[in-house]
Amino acid sequence: MLLHAYQQKPIANYNTDCISCTLPNNDSDLIFFTDFWKVVLHPDQSGLGSCLITARRHVGKLSELTPEEFSEFFQVITILEPTLEHTFGATLINLSCDRNWAYRTENPDPPFKNGKSNPHVHWHLTTRYSTSKEFEGILFEDPSFGEPITWRSVKLGQDLKNKIITKIQNELGIVYDR
Ligand SMILES: [Zn+2]
Repeated sequence: MLLHAYQQKPIANYNTDCISCTLPNNDSDLIFFTDFWKVVLHPDQSGLGSCLITARRHVGKLSELTPEEFSEFFQVITILEPTLEHTFGATLINLSCDRNWAYRTENPDPPFKNGKSNPHVHWHLTTRYSTSKEFEGILFEDPSFGEPITWRSVKLGQDLKNKIITKIQNELGIVYDR
């Protein structure tokens, strides 16, 4: 499995029909992409180094993933879990596939299609820490360690996000510019 990214940081240009369908070259927080998945830094860094792992195909249900997509997803997890453990010292990772926003009646995300929910399979890979961690002078804490994560809307500036992304990429065998 090859991990692809871009030497130049991508320019954000999101697909308004489904933000998960945005091309990897328009995801400004891209870490890498493969044939079937793309990995971007999670917009909420309540867990330092947390990511979103998104199917590159618009697919709504886990049961609709192909064996090839499942197999490659497993490979992505197999490299990301140890990478996040030794890059930032995460104690463990959590993984969830929610898609709840696609089903809410107000401001569904992605928007409804033909009056129906239109989810896109993506996984929240959340890093969990038994002790607080400092990165680039910022202290990251995990006050609900031992329980499901409490999202605290930790939004970082682009410079700091780029440093986190680059640090993860440096740990991986990224092939730049496809
Ligand atoms: Zn989509």
